[in-house]
Amino acid sequence: MLVTRSAAERSHTREILARVEAAGVTDVTFLRSDRISGLGRSDERAAYARAKATLAVVVSPPSARKLEPIAPSADWRLDLARGCPAHCQYCYLAGSLGGPPITRVYADLDDILAGMDAYVGQGTVTSADAARAGEGTTFEASCYTDPLGIEPMTGSLAAAIAYVGTHSFAGPVQLRATTKFGAVDALLDLPHNGRTRIRASVNADAVAGRFEGGTDPMPVRLAGLGALARSGYPVGLTIAPIMPVDGWVEQYSALLDAAAAALPTNADLTVECITHRFTPGSKEVLESWYPRTKLEMDPDRRSRKYGKFGAVKYVYPAAEMRELRTWFENALTERLPTARSLYWT
Ligand code: SF4
Repeated sequence: MLVTRSAAERSHTREILARVEAAGVTDVTFLRSDRISGLGRSDERAAYARAKATLAVVVSPPSARKLEPIAPSADWRLDLARGCPAHCQYCYLAGSLGGPPITRVYADLDDILAGMDAYVGQGTVTSADAARAGEGTTFEASCYTDPLGIEPMTGSLAAAIAYVGTHSFAGPVQLRATTKFGAVDALLDLPHNGRTRIRASVNADAVAGRFEGGTDPMPVRLAGLGALARSGYPVGLTIAPIMPVDGWVEQYSALLDAAAAALPTNADLTVECITHRFTPGSKEVLESWYPRTKLEMDPDRRSRKYGKFGAVKYVYPAAEMRELRTWFENALTERLPTARSLYWT
């Protein structure tokens, strides 16, 4: 673990150090500056492995404190950290974060949370959507990390949930997080006040078992979600990335059945569906990290979708997309009839 000079002075760093010590980690280096160093020189694979195994405690850059809209999930992206120690072969972070994939935890958590006030009532994504405006101003904490995956070392998610649950905001607010992990015990008794919606990121066994290294198995994620729902949290399923793998109908049917069995019938439940996509940049990074991956990233089998600034994304062709979408809409109505679908993308 690395601690930058500025981060060493912050109170949240003391909490992180206590957690790290309790976990038996002794390799902690206090850097003399704010520049991350000490990863050594090595080839690309070794550099990846070292970076993924490194947690750095840093003060967030000014860009992280200036919040950006994050459609379609939330009005604002609220970063508690940047990076994730898991090894998902399709990880969307590969295309959005440059450099070695170190996990940087933000030590200035108090300032980050205090900054939320300025954005309440200013949302233009979910706040502008009649079907979702009732959620209040929404803040998504899992765009650049898996906040529950690193929670045992950071405590940042629990602190954010308690803050959002008890702080007096100028209007209704919802904190959002999605995770491929299931260790929720430390969250169950927090004063969440129904203001945090946690979603389990779930998938068919053929996708999760093959491509989601270092994450919790599906039954553990679903059990965690069930426990959160029974503790009064609004919860959700992020079904992502959806892939038409061999036997996908049976595979996703089994997933939805398992979710229905794990959740109490009165859960406040939402569903978000995200099909697999990639960019030329993410494909290049992922293929360098996982050179033997069996993940299909063949531009010739995809349709091109252009973003605001002309950036290309490869998505499934329209007919395949329609087939998947129709099946999921029917299957969700049948298997999780009380769930509210937020979006399909
Ligand atoms: S858990 Fe999420 S953030 Fe972490 S490697 Fe997997 S996809 Fe990426």
